[in-house]
Amino acid sequence: MIRRLLRRVFNKQASLPGAPLIIPRQIHGIKKQQISPGALRTIITLKEKGFAAFVVGGAVRDLLFGLAPKDFDVATDATPDQVRAAFRRAHIIGRRFRLVHVMHGNETVEVSTFRGPHSETQVAQQDAHGRILRDNVFGDQQQDAERRDFSINALFYDPTTEEVMDYQGGFADLKARRLRIIGDAESRYREDPVRMLRAVRLAAKLGMDIEPATRTSIPKLAPLLQNVPASRLFEEMLKLLLSGHAVESVKALLANGLHHGLFPMLDIIVEKPLGQGFVMLALKNTDERIRQDKPVSPGFLFAAMLWHEVLAAWKNLENRGVHSIQALHQAMDQVIRMQAERLAIPKRFSAIMKEIWSLQPRFLNRSGKRAFRLLEHPRFRAAYDFLLLRCDNAEAEAELGNWWTAFQNADPEQRRSMLHADETPRRRRRRGRRKPALSNVAGDHGGGTAS
Ligand code: ATP
Ligand code: MG
Repeated sequence: MIRRLLRRVFNKQASLPGAPLIIPRQIHGIKKQQISPGALRTIITLKEKGFAAFVVGGAVRDLLFGLAPKDFDVATDATPDQVRAAFRRAHIIGRRFRLVHVMHGNETVEVSTFRGPHSETQVAQQDAHGRILRDNVFGDQQQDAERRDFSINALFYDPTTEEVMDYQGGFADLKARRLRIIGDAESRYREDPVRMLRAVRLAAKLGMDIEPATRTSIPKLAPLLQNVPASRLFEEMLKLLLSGHAVESVKALLANGLHHGLFPMLDIIVEKPLGQGFVMLALKNTDERIRQDKPVSPGFLFAAMLWHEVLAAWKNLENRGVHSIQALHQAMDQVIRMQAERLAIPKRFSAIMKEIWSLQPRFLNRSGKRAFRLLEHPRFRAAYDFLLLRCDNAEAEAELGNWWTAFQNADPEQRRSMLHADETPRRRRRRGRRKPALSNVAGDHGGGTAS
């Protein structure tokens, strides 16, 4: 029935070149009530002022897939200044891409003005590899659809007519679960290499096949990601890891050669069986938490992804005679510094990562005050979850994880009875013999490439 209706719509509209396919509500199935109040308000206000305005991009795509959109973006023919003037609480943001944030209560709606094609005079706005540095040439709705990345991301929904407008065949691609880049794949990736990461992430998240022309140039152009500013790479990587489909996404990154030099530990995933197990466990764990609507901490995730780098560097320093604790701290700094060059992990995350790592050796101490002190540490919970991950990966004794689980759940009386006799007797400690206990953590698992 839907197919028949769609065919009728196609046939009727086929005679209008350049015109969008107009898909009625009976076929697309999106209901006006599914649009957020802020986006709806924004569109109605802009229309009252005589502008065109639509819900666009990821929200339309997700609704058509039956998913709840994370946010609702609006596209309009009003300029950023006109949009700002139309609302009481609105401000212009961005340089590479100017847009307006319109605030309704707690909701922020991103409003972008239709973009047009780049003229010859804009060559100066590209880098030597064709990457676009500014994108502020305005155009009409059709041109706006054309400069979007994938056909499924170029659909417009008009809540007043309840129609979807499709200039790029995105609706048919979506129904066929086909991810197709708009225009010539190679030049679109050169304009913005991040589109390669987006292709992989969206295909994994939505269970789509990447159409051949969209896929084939990726391995060849993957090195262009080196030219993307580290902060943007970090943002996109975070989206990928927190998509709820991190395992599939990372596997797809590897399959498409997109990991090299991007994230050194992704190389390790393929090359070092133990590191791979650990990272994959962490990703699986994250995916499950996201699907259960539990919070996930990017700091925890990055700590897991880089743990085997830290272990390798730690062991290396210990072998060179550096005292264990000092070696661990130097190793952490080394690994963070190395990643900072490519990924720019913000300080607020790297501080958490360091805490999680540096607390690991302390779990070996189950005696007296030290066990209680660890329990009270503000980062205890994350560090404990991390310990469990290490137990799952058989690099820490399962018994140790179980002990800490029981210790947390016990009442004060039980806790006292659980404490081990001091594991580092005073006499020995005075001789500075703490190293053996800590080396158990670095163990034999530190087979990474950090150095
Ligand atoms: P999600 O928000 O679920 O991660 P999204 O597609 O909404 O996915 P956004 O980054 O919010 O991603 O982008 C909104 C829209 O802007 C996209 O749907 C697409 O139309 C367009 N867009 C985003 N990034 C690019 C890009 N690199 N090149 C061209 N168009 C893009
Ligand atoms: Mg979005």
